[in-house]
Amino acid sequence: MTGDAQDPTGSGKETLDSVDEVFSVLGDETRIEILLELCEVASESGIGQGLGFSALQDRVGVTDSGRFNYHLDKLTGQFVAKRGDTYVARWPALALVAAIHAGLYGETAEMTAESATTESRCPKCLRPLEVRFVDGTLGTGVYMYCSEHGKMDVYSFPPGAQVGRSLLETMQVAYTRLRTGVDLARRGICMECWGRVSTEFPVDAHDHGEKRERYDEFTQVAYQCERCWNQLRVPLRTYVGTHPIVEAAFEERGFAPLRGADELTTEDEIACETEVTESKPTGATVRISFDEETLVLSVDDDCSVSGHHWA
Ligand SMILES: [Zn+2]
Ligand SMILES: [Zn+2]
Repeated sequence: MTGDAQDPTGSGKETLDSVDEVFSVLGDETRIEILLELCEVASESGIGQGLGFSALQDRVGVTDSGRFNYHLDKLTGQFVAKRGDTYVARWPALALVAAIHAGLYGETAEMTAESATTESRCPKCLRPLEVRFVDGTLGTGVYMYCSEHGKMDVYSFPPGAQVGRSLLETMQVAYTRLRTGVDLARRGICMECWGRVSTEFPVDAHDHGEKRERYDEFTQVAYQCERCWNQLRVPLRTYVGTHPIVEAAFEERGFAPLRGADELTTEDEIACETEVTESKPTGATVRISFDEETLVLSVDDDCSVSGHHWA
């Protein structure tokens, strides 16, 4: 795939004209059905595989060839490629259909349980955490709850994440995706729009008008996509705790991978301390102790791990 020639940095905004064009192309049920069918073909026969005009028309179930041709023609170019006599779903079509399956535009799946007890523990008091379903302003999600310290981490997910999964499984899926998002952000990539991500730390836990008591004692990292809405604020310990060096150390010592953002302080004999260097440029040292050994990580001002050693 090539970048936009007019915007080599990839950080600019798409023009309103092109957004307008996309929505006018998609504003028809038959066209969405064509895209769904072509993506189904990609799923059955492989990405890049397609169908001829008549076979596609049969699958979509439109009897009027003239009308079908009109709609298919509108999609050809941006969403559908024509190779010889075959129509193939292009990347934007695959991405759109994935979003439809995630349920962003679909109906809400029913969660069978409203809450469940997890194997995770509160980082402050080590009580078992409960996971609770929430249907909030932004959509569905779960939050972790301690009977003593209240609401902890919040994980959001689209309705499609819940289909065929229990509440605990959905929480794990949302957490895994969060970790993946953090991992991509660490490499400067936005998980949502493929744009560039910039990282800032330490950031004030109290800005944006929201008091985040649950993270008061943790140094915060914020990352933000330079193009879309994607942003996240996580404790530095979470940011570093998901680093490949730390994951490898967990695996070598027989510890299960983290199942929740706050599990770096648990009964599993793992402890995590972070220390921020106040002088400029800002840096930090993160110490993760496993039994007798301590993994010491040096963190740069852009929040990348610049070195590590065992102590
Ligand atoms: Zn607690
Ligand atoms: Zn983005």
